[in-house]
Amino acid sequence: MTGDAAARVWLVVPFEVATGHSDAACELPGHGWVTAAHARELMIRPGSVWQTLPVDLRDGQAINRPTQAYRPTMAMVEHVRAVDGTCRGPDCTTPATRCDLDHEIPWPAGETAVTNFYAKERRHHNLKTHQVWTSTPVADGGLQWTTLTGRTHTTYPKDWREGIGPPGDDPPPF
Ligand SMILES: [Zn+2]
Repeated sequence: MTGDAAARVWLVVPFEVATGHSDAACELPGHGWVTAAHARELMIRPGSVWQTLPVDLRDGQAINRPTQAYRPTMAMVEHVRAVDGTCRGPDCTTPATRCDLDHEIPWPAGETAVTNFYAKERRHHNLKTHQVWTSTPVADGGLQWTTLTGRTHTTYPKDWREGIGPPGDDPPPF
């Protein structure tokens, strides 16, 4: 981070790209894509902070790291946002970085753990809070929504393997 920059941006750089063994485009979640060369340049800029994001290559999901904290720490918030990628509402593309974390099973019955949190932006959070729609965790990290009319829709954590792909049309915010 530079001192005068308020922006904080995630850049997903696969290990092979970071080491120069791949020139796959790299994803800026919620923004678009940058070239591998650009990503490597950003990596070595002063102030850049790098964190590993362990990913299960069998299903592409970011791997959970449990915690015993009562309320979500910033690390937990960032973890859940990384796992979810976007709001977990049906067909919602709001970046998880702009979402609240919702205790899926309300505390204290539900624990404060990354496995009990889902990213939901205000609209989808309110639909659940006001019991217009219900959401229920299902297998494989799925979150199944049921509307008032009984229609169901299941969303899943972000597949980070999608980060290895072609560049999009969105210009990078740099
Ligand atoms: Zn949403």
